[in-house]
Amino acid sequence: MLAVVKSRPEVGIEIMEMPEPEIRKGHVMIEVKACGICGSDLHFYDWAPLARWITLPRILGHEVAGTICEVGEEVEGFAPGDRIVADTWGGCGSCYFCRLGRFNHCMHQTRLGQHVDGGMAKYVIVPSNSLFKVPEGVDLLEASVIEPLGVVLRAFERCDMKPGDDIVIMGPGPIGLLGVMLAKHSGAATVIASGLKDDKERLGYATKFGAVTVTVGEENLKDKVLELTNGKGADIVMDVSGGQASLADAASIVKRGGQIGVIGLSPEGMFNPYVIVDKELTIHGSFRRQPSTWFRAIKLVASKVIDTRPIITHVLPLQRAEEGFRTLLRKEGLKVVLVP
Ligand SMILES: [Zn+2]
Ligand SMILES: [Zn+2]
Repeated sequence: MLAVVKSRPEVGIEIMEMPEPEIRKGHVMIEVKACGICGSDLHFYDWAPLARWITLPRILGHEVAGTICEVGEEVEGFAPGDRIVADTWGGCGSCYFCRLGRFNHCMHQTRLGQHVDGGMAKYVIVPSNSLFKVPEGVDLLEASVIEPLGVVLRAFERCDMKPGDDIVIMGPGPIGLLGVMLAKHSGAATVIASGLKDDKERLGYATKFGAVTVTVGEENLKDKVLELTNGKGADIVMDVSGGQASLADAASIVKRGGQIGVIGLSPEGMFNPYVIVDKELTIHGSFRRQPSTWFRAIKLVASKVIDTRPIITHVLPLQRAEEGFRTLLRKEGLKVVLVP
């Protein structure tokens, strides 16, 4: 089968023939109908230092939606024909953190498209405890965006957001823009989305989804936030960008006693913790999702409260994956979904 493979420890990917996988106990085989390219996949493409823990060679892809075509022994509750989305790792179910129900902190993580072969191929094998059924009325293309929706929804679950809050979302990529939609639907009074000069196209989407936008480098983020919040600062700042100084920026624009949600991965050493004490800040790290986040994200899409379709700007056949990766590396479009 044709697959998108990270085969060598250097920049790039390969689109090549790989053997079809074999069904295993406790797992299902999915015929992939859609697989999004994630920001982390771009790091694997670029062979960024923070992404070098992926084991090679590896079929990439974890934003998978598809149909079950084969069910392994000891799988209950799923059958061939079921339309599903899959978590990147459902948790082993027996370690300390899984027993607490914190599956995203499982001590034995085997991540899809990173430690085991992922969904940028015709078939992928996934443990059944990581599956979620896609309801009627949600097509598999829009379902493939439920995984990144869950990433930002988890940050909203972590931060205690109340209707009427002023929220800043730093980083207008797909996850940040889904965050703009969530903030609007959760009753935020003001939603401010910030990005860099080369995010212009993406900030245009943020405006369309109801945010006030700030182009850092052309406008002063802090001045703008203070102006829009009567000088107090934002109730919640979500850093999705993981930029050089984004945590320091977040701390400078959040109000005293406010909250910062951290999704992006900033480099070390750019943040002075003094401000945490001085402003009595609460900082919430947010890592992937809990099963409860999945159920909530699926309901948001099924009920049409969140429409993930405008996030999908490119649908490409697997053969054109290289083009899809390069498009996103140039920060063009939002979500590229590959279709085997
Ligand atoms: Zn992802
Ligand atoms: Zn576990």
